[in-house]
Amino acid sequence: MSDAPAVTYADVEAAAARIQGFVHRTPIVTSRRIDAAAGAQIFFKCENLQRIGAFKIRGAYNAIARLSPEQQRKGVVAFSSGNHAQAVALAARALGVSATIVMPHDSPASKLAATKEYGAQVVGYDRYTEDRLAIAAKLAEEKGLSLVPPFDHPDVIAGAGTAAKELIEDVSGLDALFVPLGGGGLLSGTALSARALAPGIELYGVEPEAGDDGVQSLRAGRIVTIPTPQTIADGAQTTSLGQHTFPIIRDLVDDVFTASDAELASAMRLLAVNAKLVVEPTGVLGLAAALRRAPGDLAGARIGVVLTGGNVDLDRYAQLLTSV
Ligand SMILES: *Cc1c(COP(=O)(O)O)cnc(C)c1O
Repeated sequence: MSDAPAVTYADVEAAAARIQGFVHRTPIVTSRRIDAAAGAQIFFKCENLQRIGAFKIRGAYNAIARLSPEQQRKGVVAFSSGNHAQAVALAARALGVSATIVMPHDSPASKLAATKEYGAQVVGYDRYTEDRLAIAAKLAEEKGLSLVPPFDHPDVIAGAGTAAKELIEDVSGLDALFVPLGGGGLLSGTALSARALAPGIELYGVEPEAGDDGVQSLRAGRIVTIPTPQTIADGAQTTSLGQHTFPIIRDLVDDVFTASDAELASAMRLLAVNAKLVVEPTGVLGLAAALRRAPGDLAGARIGVVLTGGNVDLDRYAQLLTSV
């Protein structure tokens, strides 16, 4: 772990300068009715309103912009069926770099279409019989493509940290911060910003109940790997934290909580009804945990919550909102 190059808040600042003008400084939204329900003041950082509909554009753009001209000329490759695919496709196009995305054949048609629309070349694979990492690695080797990982990379972490930097700059006196946790790119980047700008703030990561590898890893003091969790939070169906993200989370984050699928659906509904915000299941992990925790020692506190994305199929969205 110690051989991983360290990422620092200076890298987050550099990333912020690099992505400025391309990535939105997303708004902070509040709702009196949600505050009343929570018994605390909640400030939502709306990355569901970000370009490509999720914060992942921050890390993808930063990582591709940081490549050498030679690497940029050869192109990039990523494997993802979700927000990272669209982030790499759009960031690459904006930087004049060709992108190849390795996606399962059975990805939602809307996601395949969006990725192609951004100009990426899509390479399909069978998620049950083929290894996407091997396919991407082969493409990288044969064509000299640079792999852009979804979370476990210093430039991706630094880019992700810019969302919390903006939130802390825009909202004074925050007591606590809750952010979703998958592979930990967002949480580790958030930790760098939080410890530099608001050292005393309580910082929590929130993962799906079915995939509590983060909780297990913090307890064990090492990276614990689990089978792919079954949860509606498809952006956090990761099986482990990363070599780069784990040490930062271990050292700088106060704790990791979980939220059940039912809590996620309720939180999505609360945001739709009261704040008119469409947020995907993974995007409300922070709110779900804040709602559970606020009545206790965080009563009346000023709480920052990152709503990480809004990409959810409309039929699925309707179904989830009416399930609670
Ligand atoms: C990827 C993603 C996450 C998790 O981010 P990590 O950096 O993997 O922890 C959370 N929410 C959304 C919407 C995502 O796309």
